[in-house]
Amino acid sequence: MITVHTIAALKEQLAIFRSTTQSIGFVPTMGYLHEGHESLLKKARNENDVVVLSIFVNPSQFGPNEDLDRYPRDLERDLAIAKKSQVDIVFAPSIEEMYPTKMKIHFLAEEQSKVLCGASRPGHFEGVLMVVTKLFHLVSPTRAYFGMKDAQQLAIIETLVRDYNFPLEIIRGETIREEDGLAKSSRNVFLCEKEREEAPALFQALVLAKEHFQKHRSVIDAIQKATEHVTKNTNAKIDYLQLLEYPSLAEVTEDSQEMIVAGAIYFENARLIDNQIFNVKGE
Ligand code: AMP
Repeated sequence: MITVHTIAALKEQLAIFRSTTQSIGFVPTMGYLHEGHESLLKKARNENDVVVLSIFVNPSQFGPNEDLDRYPRDLERDLAIAKKSQVDIVFAPSIEEMYPTKMKIHFLAEEQSKVLCGASRPGHFEGVLMVVTKLFHLVSPTRAYFGMKDAQQLAIIETLVRDYNFPLEIIRGETIREEDGLAKSSRNVFLCEKEREEAPALFQALVLAKEHFQKHRSVIDAIQKATEHVTKNTNAKIDYLQLLEYPSLAEVTEDSQEMIVAGAIYFENARLIDNQIFNVKGE
């Protein structure tokens, strides 16, 4: 495994691999790796000749009052996990390397970015699209891997790739969870003991909403069920709980087939998100 911190070194290493290999699998992350990231790396390892992992806490996707400064970081630990996952190249650039000058061209994501996290984190997805575009150009992967845990991000990146003809395939990875259902997240370290006990209520609420919707087809009632469950079982503040069509993220209609019920809740020091994606007919 080779770790590089500069674009020049990344290009040099990729050139060596490109002369002898067919496919490059790419897993972009913000580091502080956990089993969710590892499952994407495993998928990438199984499906490609070369695996590239990026570790970059991207400032352009954080709002002014968000947790950029205290986002957990531990490169040494991440490198050990990457090595165990048989990564070939780790790209861990500095902010200056990725953004040497002020960015003067920005993305404008449409409907898909106006709901859920996009509504509570203005500019977030534009920042994601900025960094992902840069990384896609730097790595030129055959396949790029994203987790369904961040289902809105995944849907918007799929739109980016389709709308702008990026020559790569986006592969979806299942959400990896703790035994009690809590979705693995780098931010879970910010939960105190009591919050950690309460946190699975978000997942449980989303499952309840999904099951209620599948039985009764009422978005309002399904969300009501989820809201009651979170309110009863946690001291968290609800940011949103919503049921929409997926991946369009439009309002549910009679014709909707694929749905998402997604939620975000605030604990004292962590905002947690989770979702359930399901077909109207069953799973
Ligand atoms: P992050 O480091 O949080 O930016 O996440 C990097 C990638 O890992 C994204 O594609 C996430 O969707 C994915 N990811 C994060 N948590 C999980 C999880 N619990 N299960 C599966 N994928 C995840």
